[in-house]
Amino acid sequence: MKLALFDDNRLGVVTAGDLLVDVTDALPGPHDPDPLTAGWWRGLCRDFASRSDALRDAAAAGPARPLADVTLHAPVLGPSKVIAAAMNYGEHVTEMHAVQERTLGGVEAWMMNFDVFLKSPSSIVGPGATVTLPPDAVAAGHEVHHESELVVVIGTGGKDIPAELAMDAVLGFTAGLDITVRSPADRSRRKSYDGFSPLGPWLVTADEIGDGSDLDIRLTCGSAVRQQVNTRDMLTPVPAIVAYASSMMTLLPGDVLFTGAPPGVGPIAAGERLDMTISRIGSMSVTIA
Ligand code: MN
Repeated sequence: MKLALFDDNRLGVVTAGDLLVDVTDALPGPHDPDPLTAGWWRGLCRDFASRSDALRDAAAAGPARPLADVTLHAPVLGPSKVIAAAMNYGEHVTEMHAVQERTLGGVEAWMMNFDVFLKSPSSIVGPGATVTLPPDAVAAGHEVHHESELVVVIGTGGKDIPAELAMDAVLGFTAGLDITVRSPADRSRRKSYDGFSPLGPWLVTADEIGDGSDLDIRLTCGSAVRQQVNTRDMLTPVPAIVAYASSMMTLLPGDVLFTGAPPGVGPIAAGERLDMTISRIGSMSVTIA
């Protein structure tokens, strides 16, 4: 099922042919459009298994409207945290030596290992967003890079989740950009500016995608293909990332997990448009200002 948040934070199911059905009324309770109190979304992430039939029925009943008639938002609301994996594709690890030589004047050995870190949830924006380059980074001459990544949305979550059970704790997948300032500062600072976590265009539940290990990610900037990879090339696959992250912090329903940058990271500039596609999920664009 393709779950979308749209307009006044209503819940939609995207159906064949670029159509959307408003299924908000199939949820229990009155609709709460306030993103600050939208526990209904985290409840849906936790309880999706018991609510999916009602949503599927509502989607089938319609009416469907063209996606072009609604405004899509990021397919998450109020996550307790945004976790992100570092150094999860071999060719990206290799390219980061040159990137760090250029942007840091040397290679930071500790940053070359696979690990997870945190981004601010307030950095999340939706598909079609305009992302403004941070004035302090621009003034300092730092490069700001795109990283186009498969993103996991946590379902039931938990602590110390074994890899073989990890997909039971996952709701689904979306596409995300982990926008990053290249500077000597901490990752959490460099990746948490407002707008630095575009997500979209919707969430595809894991029953349609499996464990996310055979998806094509492609990012273009104008006519140039910047990043192109299949997720089978991840060094640490999705279930193992979930297991690893949950070994240190409880994964709560609705949490967001970026799975790492493919090779091809590079600078973005004002006026550019990034188009990102993940097979079997969808496409989104963001404009840089
Ligand atoms: Mn990243």
